[in-house]
Amino acid sequence: MSPGRPLAPGNAIPPLCYNAIADRSQRRAGGPVFVMRCPYCQHPDTDVLDTRKLNDGEIIRRRRKCRQCSRRFTTYERVESVSLTVVKKDGEREPYDREKIMRGVRTACYRRPVSVQQLEQLVNDVEAAIMATDEQEVSSKTIGDEVMRRLRDLDEVAYIRFASVYRSFADIGKLREAVDELLENS
Ligand SMILES: [Zn+2]
Repeated sequence: MSPGRPLAPGNAIPPLCYNAIADRSQRRAGGPVFVMRCPYCQHPDTDVLDTRKLNDGEIIRRRRKCRQCSRRFTTYERVESVSLTVVKKDGEREPYDREKIMRGVRTACYRRPVSVQQLEQLVNDVEAAIMATDEQEVSSKTIGDEVMRRLRDLDEVAYIRFASVYRSFADIGKLREAVDELLENS
């Protein structure tokens, strides 16, 4: 799995992870990202006895011991899998799909000197920018703008290709405007 990618819903997570996953509403209220409470006595301080990475490090398994009641328990921590909805131009809504962004960028970069790592990094950056807003909905326009801004710095041909699809230039004049704008700013 690619780095930074949240686990898809339905992936088997062992049942003891319930108190290890960050709560969005809590985070929005300025609370701590992780509250690791003892499942027996709810005490917030625990000692970590053992740490293991599972699934290429996406899940971290920790053996913990409560500082208050000394009981031991296991947590499975992972990056929070957020449910983000994309609002399309026609108002239709669909679940956020990283792969969809990746496909668009990959197509735009076809046969361009852009490495897979650069593509991954670009999508990671776009994703981080979207997630940082902490909203539950994002417009496809916002995503497109974030992609374009970064693609422009990466490869101008890819940028124009992406923009021509994304902005669906009605005629060659509009495309020309975009190219001129690009040349002016470079
Ligand atoms: Zn305890």
